[in-house]
Amino acid sequence: MGSIAQALAHTRERISGACARAGRSPQGVTLLAVSKTRPVEDVRAALAAGQRDFGENYVQEGLAKIESLRDAAPDLRWHLIGPLQSNKTRDVAAAFDWVHSVDRLRVAQRLSDQRPPNLPPLQVCLQVNVSGEDSKSGVNPHELPELARAVMALPRLRLRGLMSIPAPAQGLQAQREPHAALRRLFEALKAQGVSMDTLSMGMSDDLEAAVMEGSTMVRVGTAIFGARPRQAE
Ligand SMILES: *Cc1c(COP(=O)(O)O)cnc(C)c1O
Repeated sequence: MGSIAQALAHTRERISGACARAGRSPQGVTLLAVSKTRPVEDVRAALAAGQRDFGENYVQEGLAKIESLRDAAPDLRWHLIGPLQSNKTRDVAAAFDWVHSVDRLRVAQRLSDQRPPNLPPLQVCLQVNVSGEDSKSGVNPHELPELARAVMALPRLRLRGLMSIPAPAQGLQAQREPHAALRRLFEALKAQGVSMDTLSMGMSDDLEAAVMEGSTMVRVGTAIFGARPRQAE
């Protein structure tokens, strides 16, 4: 078994272990393999090991991989998880299955308008800037309910849930806090009638903490594909 296949198997075991601790079924957690900066051969290796959901951060890089793997597996799903500028929405709406990083109505409207009619609605998560988050992206929790209602009304998008990228923290307890905060926002919105089924939270270093707080989709790069070269943000 190749090293990507082994790392995938190990990651799936980590998810199952965390699910067992949390009293959850592992079927309730989708593993998203984050292939950003990785060559298409690495995606093929993961595909061969049964992986079907892939996350990309950079639009052009993602489009190139989607194009070269178009015929590789019909059931492959591509998720954009990185920041999205309005001038890139057309390409994204035509090629990706999911966008996790919607944080503005303008971007959501463009994605809905530009989603090709022959494709199913684009699946979207709203990226939330939970407190302590080390990034400028994400909607402020106070503005979340209004954005969620507006996105829910867009005809060619399907609102699936919430996503966050908390600042790195050490230790299970500290890692659980921002995930718990996102889960509370998720539950509060659902109680107000916003229908959603996805909590996109947890990465290589904190997936256990995220699963314990109810994550339904973990986004794992380094633990599957190895360390990335350092990148300018
Ligand atoms: C890079 C990235 C990941 C994966 O991070 P790892 O620590 O390599 O697992 C997950 N989510 C987002 C939004 C990312 O940009």
